[in-house]
Amino acid sequence: SLEYTSLDDIDNIVQDSKRSSEERQRRLAHAENPRAEDLALRLKELRSLYFGLKDHEEEIIDALHQDLHRSRHESLGLELIPLYNNILALIENLPRYIEPEKVQESSLLFKLSSVKVERIALGSVLVISPFNYPVLLGIDPVAAAIGAGNSVVWKPSELAPATAVVMERIIVSSVNPSWIKVVQGEIPETTRLIENPNFDKIFYTGSTKVGRIVSQAAAKNLIPVILELGGKSPVFITENLTSADLKRALKRTFFGAFNNSGQTCVASDYVLIHESQLEKARELTSEILDDYWPDFNQDTEFSSMINDQAYKKAIERLENTKGTIFQPSKVAGELAKRCIPPSVIFNVTWDDSLMEEENFSPVLPFIVYHDIDNVMEQVVTRHPDPLALYIFSQNQREINKIMNSIKSGGCAINDTIIHVGTMNAPFGGIGQSGQGSYHGKWSYQAFTHERTVLQQRLWMEFLDDTRNPPYNSNKLAI
Ligand code: NAD
Repeated sequence: SLEYTSLDDIDNIVQDSKRSSEERQRRLAHAENPRAEDLALRLKELRSLYFGLKDHEEEIIDALHQDLHRSRHESLGLELIPLYNNILALIENLPRYIEPEKVQESSLLFKLSSVKVERIALGSVLVISPFNYPVLLGIDPVAAAIGAGNSVVWKPSELAPATAVVMERIIVSSVNPSWIKVVQGEIPETTRLIENPNFDKIFYTGSTKVGRIVSQAAAKNLIPVILELGGKSPVFITENLTSADLKRALKRTFFGAFNNSGQTCVASDYVLIHESQLEKARELTSEILDDYWPDFNQDTEFSSMINDQAYKKAIERLENTKGTIFQPSKVAGELAKRCIPPSVIFNVTWDDSLMEEENFSPVLPFIVYHDIDNVMEQVVTRHPDPLALYIFSQNQREINKIMNSIKSGGCAINDTIIHVGTMNAPFGGIGQSGQGSYHGKWSYQAFTHERTVLQQRLWMEFLDDTRNPPYNSNKLAI
């Protein structure tokens, strides 16, 4: 079972992490070829981490099943395989990332200088993770932080305890403790961590509410933060779709709404559907739900809500909605613990309980619209800055109009969620959905400082004359 780290030990753990990173820097400073040695050290830990995960894949899948009743298919497809790919890409690209980048300067002043941007390790960083993808959203930033040359303290989510235990065991047995330490716990332990002044950065993934707390605590010590938060991500199903398009649009929207039982930060949270599509959409929804889940019972591979509180909250919203609920037609018997069948709710209005905050459950409200301008204004006033924006349309002008009217962290057109899997583009929120980004080279940037390094030749004294007294206007001509 999950044992929380003693509060008395936490400050020492943070201190040790800082000391490890300082010692490593000192050792490297004396090395024959510091960059090559640094690279070798980082690669060694990343490879150990990768094989540690691979060797314990079955245990991880079992733990995720215990915590979330998650299927093997989802755990591999949405969590482990993307994580493996990200670590492998990091290993492959690290030799390139670690090299300073040469900069060309056009001004005559720098013609004979060398200008480079080098990305230097920050030191010791804190990574705090949520429960919903407890492996990927923890280890992805942890790996990036190590790859970038930092020591890391990782605080897994206490709400996924079986996974937290397995992951700690894997990390302790595979990665050198000078690079990573795990602190287990909930609010008191995390508070202790975020109030510690010895971190050089905090990378937080979780709710907007707690993100604000983390940001405030970090600000007191001038610690920079990256915040990966949540929000209500809307889906537009517009009039510019044929009925075949509409079916694909619904299937892709349901993928975004129901995997991991809707507990996904970029989940399709609610649908804005043009009135002309409504009747057909209702018909197709029943058809698709029955196709996907011909029987829905306790053996169905469908994730459960993480805890009783989340379950209760989602059930209450379903009970309070004034909309019409569509579920697979054969929901039978007792379901798995805390399981809610996928639910599409038609005829929802803006003041419905399902429209208050991020649903984070397998419920998908549909609001009908008549006028696109009007509905876009509602989105912007009620739920600004979502983490993702989804638009189904075959009309580029319409797509542009929606994109230009609504700011969002990311955007997918004619699909949901999978934009997060792109490896050469940043992932992050805006405003209430977060700040800073990661993935691919952005992960490396997230955990390094960009230091501009100018190297001069000492013989270029004639250039010094231009900046030194006595002043005259000709000297500025350069
Ligand atoms: P959460 O904010 O409740 O918890 C996240 C972490 O913060 C946990 O490790 C927890 O122990 C800690 N924590 C909780 N309360 C705290 C407090 N008062 N002070 C200090 N630390 C505290 O989030 P969650 O419920 O685990 O995750 C769901 C949320 O995360 C959703 O809002 C979702 O949208 C968001 N999320 C965002 C992303 C992203 O990449 N942007 C990814 C996944 C989840």
